[in-house]
Amino acid sequence: MPKQDLRTQSLSDLQQSLASIGQPTYRAKQVYDWMWKLGARSFDDMTNIPATLRQAMSEVFTYDSIVLDDRQNSEDGTIKSRYKLHDGYKIETVMIPVVKDKRATGCVSSQVGCSLTCSFCATGKMGRLRNLTAAEIYDQAFDTNKLCVEQLGFPMTNLVYMGMGEPLLNYGPVLESINRITSHNGMGWSPKRITVSTAGIAKMIKRLGDEKVKFNLALSLHASDDTKRNEIMPINESNRLAALMESLEYFYEKTKGRISFEYIALKDFNDTLEDADKLVRLCRGQFPVKVNVIEYNPVPGVPFERADEKQVDVFAARVRSKGVMITVRRSRGKDIDAACGQLANKG
Ligand code: SF4
Repeated sequence: MPKQDLRTQSLSDLQQSLASIGQPTYRAKQVYDWMWKLGARSFDDMTNIPATLRQAMSEVFTYDSIVLDDRQNSEDGTIKSRYKLHDGYKIETVMIPVVKDKRATGCVSSQVGCSLTCSFCATGKMGRLRNLTAAEIYDQAFDTNKLCVEQLGFPMTNLVYMGMGEPLLNYGPVLESINRITSHNGMGWSPKRITVSTAGIAKMIKRLGDEKVKFNLALSLHASDDTKRNEIMPINESNRLAALMESLEYFYEKTKGRISFEYIALKDFNDTLEDADKLVRLCRGQFPVKVNVIEYNPVPGVPFERADEKQVDVFAARVRSKGVMITVRRSRGKDIDAACGQLANKG
């Protein structure tokens, strides 16, 4: 039988397996703390666990960690990390600091590649290679927090599931990773600091509502009518805007959680005043929503360009003038492989 990853074991699983080899009960909690609170990346990191027990555990379990493979530092402080997984696949994680406000956001991947093939996205070009485990997602958050403390002198303040992959197509492990991040046996975070970003899968958004999750939800909108959205996001063909808005209403009714729309401004595609007016109409649903306009990081071989800064300001002003909350986020990490999936795709 193939060995299982130690980090698929719950505390009670561990208690049982260690008791069966004559270990005292407190050992299981020590090992568990190493797995989640202390960030062990191998059995050998567990320095207060007797070597004989580490050896015994390694005969029964694997310890599948992510390993830093490359790191790019942008002039603006953004740091992109590429990690190698135990089976050789590569993923990326980004840390985006706003030092003057003592804020730093981590952006984690939830899948290797992505099946959704959004036309403007480098990750979509890879296809979906596999889902990440809860531990692989957790490790990205844990490492990014450590990176913030080391590089900035303060911890990570926010976490977004906005890296490679569609989080709601890796539903179980994504929710499990959030449970760990928010557990006092893990990073002890408030779920209010976490945002899951989805390309829009109506039935999964409703499921989040049914489970009364406490984190925030972002919809990657990127176009404000079905025709344009179908053109850039094939998932829209089976999840039309009307169905998505209805699912968000349901989510809000059940959770009262914060909802935002992400909107990548693409030159001469979705940056006109007509687009702005359609966007305003979508924001008039039965839930409060904030719009984040994001500057596009061009991807080689993709026929989209970054919208002009002035045009983006005009667009945002129009939306704002209709009473909708909107912020414009200038692109970060322009001097490194800023677009999601670009660094992981490099050899
Ligand atoms: S934008 Fe997100 S959902 Fe679309 S292909 Fe890229 S990673 Fe997947």
